[in-house]
Order: sequence, then C-alpha cells, then structure tokens
Amino acid sequence: MEFALDAENKPVVVEDDVVVSLNYTLTVDGEVVDSSEEDGPISFIQGYGNIIPGLERELYGMRTGQSKHVSVSAADGYGTVDPEAVMEVPTEELPADIPLEVGVELEILNEDGEELSAVITKVGEKTIVLDFNHPLAGKQLEFDVTITDLRAATPEELDHGHVHDEDYDEDEEDEEN
Ligand code: ZN
Repeated sequence: MEFALDAENKPVVVEDDVVVSLNYTLTVDGEVVDSSEEDGPISFIQGYGNIIPGLERELYGMRTGQSKHVSVSAADGYGTVDPEAVMEVPTEELPADIPLEVGVELEILNEDGEELSAVITKVGEKTIVLDFNHPLAGKQLEFDVTITDLRAATPEELDHGHVHDEDYDEDEEDEEN
C-alpha cells in the first residue's frame, strides 16, 4: 500500500487500508435514530466491509475535516423487507417472563445456536407474530458524516480485518478466536 501522506505522515484521503474515524448522524424518516454524539467517532478500516456498503463507497477521496451527506437506499443499507422473515409463534412456547406487547424486542437462539433479533409485531390470544427483519430494513438511510482522522492501518489490523484502537482488548479477542 502506498498512500499520499501529509506532513504528519497521515493518509491525505480515504482509500483502501486506511483507518477512518468519523462522526455520524443517521436520520430515518426525518428522525435521528443513531449518532456518534455520545460515544465519539467510530473507527474502521476502509475497504473491509466494516460498515454498510452504501456508506463506505461514498467515503473514498474524502479528507480529514470534510463533511458529507450520504443517502443510502435500503438495498445498500440494511436490506429490503423480507416477508418470509415473519413467524407466528404459540404463546405457550415462549418463556413466561417475556412481556407480550407489540414493539418488544427479543433475542432468540436458532437451531444453529445463532442469536437472532426479532420484534413482536402482533399479539393474539394464543399466538404472537415475530418479525426477524432488521428494524431498519426497507428504510432509506440519511447519513451526515464528518471525517475526524485518517491513519494507515497496521499490518496486524489488516491481517485481522478490523481496528485495534484504545478500546481494543486482546484478552477479549482471544476468547473470540
Ligand atoms: Zn484483531
């Protein structure tokens, strides 16, 4: 990798293998649904699919301090709504401590032991309806982003495909692997 570097030895623009830090606000249907305001900028390696593709694609060539509005279609964001990803479940099969109300989010283990998120969309007398679609599926995403820092990824980061920043915990990673 050969970057154009500035006086501080940092990449000048966003390109593959650059660690990008940015502040973002995500607006959906006119409402802010997520932002980096509380936790500070997010960091990721450009070109590794660490963020949703429709946003990553629009960051190439941006410079530190630069802001941009990026509209991302549902297909390039959290996907379109899958009508098949909805399931009617007998209430008696659910643990007793689950509040049976529309809008309640549940974490469910499937047969392969994977954790899936679902939202209760309907409560009947003997059954409830669970929707496994991502809450933002089918939604157009409006991002406002500002690049706060660019640096070259370390060889280790490139090897792992993710950023090792101040939140990086090696013990935690050992458990993951
Ligand atoms: Zn790692």
